[in-house]
Amino acid sequence: MAEKGNGGVSSRLAARRKEKAGEKKEEKKEEDGGKVNGNGKNVANGDAAVANGAPGEPGLEKPEPMELPPFETITGDRMDPFSFRFQFKNVEYCSGRNKTLLCYLVDQSSGADGLLRGFLEDEHAGLHAELAFFQLILPQYDPSVNYTVTWYVSSSPCAHCCSKLLEILQERKTLRLNIFSARLLEAEEEEGQEDTRAGMKALAGAGCKLRVMKPLDFSYSWDTFVEHEDERFTPWEDCQENYEYHHEKLAQILE
Ligand SMILES: [Zn+2]
Repeated sequence: MAEKGNGGVSSRLAARRKEKAGEKKEEKKEEDGGKVNGNGKNVANGDAAVANGAPGEPGLEKPEPMELPPFETITGDRMDPFSFRFQFKNVEYCSGRNKTLLCYLVDQSSGADGLLRGFLEDEHAGLHAELAFFQLILPQYDPSVNYTVTWYVSSSPCAHCCSKLLEILQERKTLRLNIFSARLLEAEEEEGQEDTRAGMKALAGAGCKLRVMKPLDFSYSWDTFVEHEDERFTPWEDCQENYEYHHEKLAQILE
């Protein structure tokens, strides 16, 4: 694709800036480990709704008696570049990344909705992004439709998600799931490694395509899911080496 000059995109940039009104400063996000709000995202449930009933509101707005799960899932169209670089960095060991970011593409063989694209993120306090996807993004299933679901996730699924995804794949026979992970969860956490490995292996056995993100995948994800403002993706140091590290690990898990 040809690079666009600065001249022809001003109206689009202006529109984006408008969308981005209310976005927090990046420095702030860095402090709290990449937490983001605004930027056209929707808080599906949890903290934001709770915040409406914050102290100081003298009962003007009586909170709806709806059930709110104790977690927050954020969905959106494109994420800010900082979140992407922070959450998807494929370091071997990391700390402070206590959430999963999941970018998705859904191709449905028929139907008006056709293609779905976007991202969601969890806070790891409740429902993980992988399962939230099937609640918020693709809750419906039509056995006459062939679905191809592709995820670019910051981290590979945990043991619990693996077993739940396995159930979903068994229920949805015409759904193909591809999971491309920046990092492997088992490289981050010692506990439960065996369960996680077994879960991933079972998922692969059920036809789920599991792969580690290559440098080209980061570049593609940047173009597809990030508010990049026509800036090109520049891989961080060791992107290729870290990919090879995780790739080898995954091969060992799945062998
Ligand atoms: Zn999980």
